[in-house]
Amino acid sequence: MTRGDPVCRREDCSPFDIGLVFDEIHNYSPHQKLEFVENVWKPGELFDFPVSMENGKCRKFVSGWLKRFPWLAYSKYFDGAFCLACVCFGVQCGRNANKLDKLLKSPLTNWTSAASRLTKHSLGNCEIHNFSMTAMNDFKRMMQRGAVPIDQQLNNIVQQQIARNREILKSLFKTIIFCGKTTSHSGAER
Ligand SMILES: [Zn+2]
Repeated sequence: MTRGDPVCRREDCSPFDIGLVFDEIHNYSPHQKLEFVENVWKPGELFDFPVSMENGKCRKFVSGWLKRFPWLAYSKYFDGAFCLACVCFGVQCGRNANKLDKLLKSPLTNWTSAASRLTKHSLGNCEIHNFSMTAMNDFKRMMQRGAVPIDQQLNNIVQQQIARNREILKSLFKTIIFCGKTTSHSGAER
């Protein structure tokens, strides 16, 4: 088995494992994307990260990285790491995303150099990452603002309609009263 290949069966992973969706998430609808971003699978405190041999040494993913890099997503399927923001929004950047292979188009699986790779990724020198982080935050804000429950939305529309009808009625009454006054005036003059 070479590094970067799946290490377990799809059925044994959460549907929100980033490794299962990283190459298709850009086709998701905005609501599906929001659902994924908010529910991306995270290994629990007791998760047993697989050990792999790197240059004759035993290495594995360090769960502390998830706290240090809030954008980091670990895939059980690949025993690999991705950048959640870059996976979901990197394509929209329009830059050549091939430069950013690991963390976006394939899992990062080399744990010996991972800490420095991840630090470099978050330092703000990567254009795709900067773009993706802003895009993800804007997207979340926009979607959450728009996420007023449907009955609430309907209620608002009904309330607006009632207020508008009241205004129309009020001006109608004014016209009728005005007309009544003019009629009675002209009647009195006769
Ligand atoms: Zn990134």
